[in-house]
Amino acid sequence: MSSRIQPWRWTAKIAQAVLVLGLPFLTVDGESALRFDVPSLTLHFFGARLPMDEFFIVLVALLFLSFLLVLLTMLFGRIWCGWLCPQTVVIDLTRFIDRTRRSGLLSRAASLASLAVISALLAAGILWYFVSPYAFVARLLAGDLGPVIGWSWAVLAVVTFLNFAALRHTFCATVCPYAKMQGALFDDRTLVIASDPARMGECMHCDACVKACPVGIDIREGLSAACINCAECIDACAGKMGRRGLRSLIGYRFGIAGGGGGLVRRNAMLAAAVTAAFLALLLVLAFNRSLVDLEVSADPFLRPSITDDGALTNGYILSVSNRSQDRQELALSSEGPAGPLVTEPDRIVLEPGEHRRVAVMVRSPQGRAGSVTVSARLRSDPQRPLVKELKLQDPW
Ligand code: SF4
Ligand code: SF4
Repeated sequence: MSSRIQPWRWTAKIAQAVLVLGLPFLTVDGESALRFDVPSLTLHFFGARLPMDEFFIVLVALLFLSFLLVLLTMLFGRIWCGWLCPQTVVIDLTRFIDRTRRSGLLSRAASLASLAVISALLAAGILWYFVSPYAFVARLLAGDLGPVIGWSWAVLAVVTFLNFAALRHTFCATVCPYAKMQGALFDDRTLVIASDPARMGECMHCDACVKACPVGIDIREGLSAACINCAECIDACAGKMGRRGLRSLIGYRFGIAGGGGGLVRRNAMLAAAVTAAFLALLLVLAFNRSLVDLEVSADPFLRPSITDDGALTNGYILSVSNRSQDRQELALSSEGPAGPLVTEPDRIVLEPGEHRRVAVMVRSPQGRAGSVTVSARLRSDPQRPLVKELKLQDPW
């Protein structure tokens, strides 16, 4: 069998491309499954709405993903680069176009035009994580993209085109910060692609591994920072050695010496512990987040007063935000030192994502002052009522 790893890589690459370009089209409760809405500064995440004031959850999620990447790099080296990095995926998927650039002016022009179209599609794919793809396509067909979306698309498309037409794998070795960071994360037990030193006497010096390498490395000379772990050399050597009934001289090895197997070691355990801690924090934050945000302050335009029947009234401003994708009904109540108080209005209905400031009157029939607790109960889930309580200062 001449090729063993590349079919799996192609499967992973195509799945990743379909996922990245297709995800913005997926909707949950009528909203993009994953999109940061710029006008409302809200992240839509599979049915959840995360407004800007909840971005600490996104920050924790990013920290978790960063440490997970550090851990995976310590254990499995540049597995991300070879299998999932969008840069590698697009370069591999456009490799046949790039090759036609070397054969004549017409082919070169056709190749560059194809890359320009693909760059425009990729740039649109990036924008769809900020603007709904359905709205984007509708506005594009109507010729009404607007200057912000239009210019963002144009700039992204040009940068993407220059990257894939001029830089390609040079980006990985020169610009990519993750590639630079990897050197510090590798140890002598990290998974790498390397030749087997014990079997190099079997090498036919056919140079098939060097010719197959997209970045022009001779892996027999040892590890290189430019290696993107594409495993092309493994399959190239497997093809040559397979004719002799032998295995590839190049393969995945835990450490160049190949004897350092095992995932458990101190630095990896430390990274795993930090990753697990951020995951636990993320889960706690995600499962305890409130669907409705409530802030209460004294109404500056309504002074406390005593009515003719001796009741003490006080005005408050409730600032409420519906962070969910559903209509939410809030039941308001308040309580003073002597028991329940009259609250007007006692019900607020909020549309999905709606933010509203509501003037609320609290009346104490006994005319007694004191601290007041205002509660907002979410009626959408009677089994699990959400209660938001705030202790208000006695304003008089
Ligand atoms: S040496 Fe070249 S062909 Fe082999 S994995 Fe690295 S980049 Fe790919
Ligand atoms: S492909 Fe294999 S046999 Fe040929 S030069 Fe490379 S390591 Fe040696």
